[in-house]
Amino acid sequence: MVFYCQRHCYDKKYTTNVVSCKPAKQDVVVNGKKKKIDCYETTFEDTVMFPEGGGQPDDRGTVEGIPVLRVQRRGGDAVHYLEKPLEVGAIVTQQIDWDRRHDHMQQHSAQHLITAVADAMYGYATNSWYLAESISYIELDTTKVSTAEINTIEETVNQRIKDATPVHIEEYDATDPKLREIRTRGLPDDVVGPVRVVTIEGVDANMCCGTHVRNLADLQAIKLLHTEKGKANKTLLYFVAGARVLRYLGECVSRERQFNILLHSCSSDHLRLVEKIQKDLKSMMIWLCEILEGRGGGKSRFTGKVTKLGKRGEAEKYILGVMDNHKTES
Ligand SMILES: [Zn+2]
Repeated sequence: MVFYCQRHCYDKKYTTNVVSCKPAKQDVVVNGKKKKIDCYETTFEDTVMFPEGGGQPDDRGTVEGIPVLRVQRRGGDAVHYLEKPLEVGAIVTQQIDWDRRHDHMQQHSAQHLITAVADAMYGYATNSWYLAESISYIELDTTKVSTAEINTIEETVNQRIKDATPVHIEEYDATDPKLREIRTRGLPDDVVGPVRVVTIEGVDANMCCGTHVRNLADLQAIKLLHTEKGKANKTLLYFVAGARVLRYLGECVSRERQFNILLHSCSSDHLRLVEKIQKDLKSMMIWLCEILEGRGGGKSRFTGKVTKLGKRGEAEKYILGVMDNHKTES
């Protein structure tokens, strides 16, 4: 089944009727801890709430003001877990948590774009991807992606955003021969009914059950952050897109300002100063070992055990001297 939310990705509200509602238990995360709670498993004639699938997490929101804890796909149904019961047959209004959904749309469309560009430019196929709460990644089928390649991919995806490239979603019958020309990726096994194809004009066409932006301009920007070695010779490419780019930048600026205060310096000096502090700390430990006749004295490792505390005054004087030196330098 193709749900209302998949045909109307920008709709936030929808009125439908309750088909079934029965008591259930559901795992939810409260303050970072998984907890099983009593709730009501509810299905509707159709839904504006996206059930998880294709790597995209499920929506949150309310139905008649009742919080929706989870939405899961079960065959052709979207099962909603509600805090309170609803009467079967009642006409109700669903309302989605738009900030969460729009964020998921931005990350998901960004993934399609990065995947298509990495494949077209360097032949790096995407094996999987993970839409995390703050930073997502794409698992590329390659042992390494160079910095130059990352820069070129980033430049290209952002050019497509600047071009305001349109994104279309079409539905096809599963037996339609046109589907053979389109790559299959990220479509859950239990999807029934028409197959959806998400097309980024001139860039990519891909089967997908997720919700997407209607134009890449709605992504604002994509920042590729770094890579990490994945399992079995794969590479994880981390990224942020959309509103997350500004949020990430905001966090970096806030940290940078805190470092300015701590290090009494401007950001261009941070790296040099931290390296100096680390180097000084290491030699300070070695000297302390010498003064206090500690184990490991004179070697690179300080064990923390000393034998002569009578020389404590001398050690303190030395530490204060090093600290004063740092203050005047920064
Ligand atoms: Zn997708």
